[in-house]
Amino acid sequence: MSYKDKQKQLEVMRKWRERNPNYFREWRERNPNYFKEYDKLHSRDRIEYFRKYYRQKFGLNKNKEKHDSEYYYLRKKANQIIFVELRAGRMKRLPCSVCGCEKSEAHHPNYSKPLEVIWLCKKHHEKEHHKISTFNT
Ligand SMILES: [Zn+2]
Ligand SMILES: [Zn+2]
Repeated sequence: MSYKDKQKQLEVMRKWRERNPNYFREWRERNPNYFKEYDKLHSRDRIEYFRKYYRQKFGLNKNKEKHDSEYYYLRKKANQIIFVELRAGRMKRLPCSVCGCEKSEAHHPNYSKPLEVIWLCKKHHEKEHHKISTFNT
């Protein structure tokens, strides 16, 4: 997914939010099973950070503390660890596990387990993060 496409996608999301500020909450209520799976991967604290992240990203956007949050810290650290492991040859970059695309990125289902990654191309990586079924672009 190109930078332009990403911007387009973000723009669509922004419009949805403007139309319905409770979109994410309602979506969660409509998809209880998704969050059951999600809870298995994430502790309560992680969910809180994630909610906070989305509130900041799609919500009022009034503070900049997101860069200091543990969520960002762990994500950065996890990606650094992958970078080091790859460079040292202790880990191998694999093709996207969905489409087989060679240009893959490491996706962490849980940032507190930095070595547990799923390899995904940019497009499928973003899908994994947004996992909104109606968002098939
Ligand atoms: Zn892919
Ligand atoms: Zn990811």
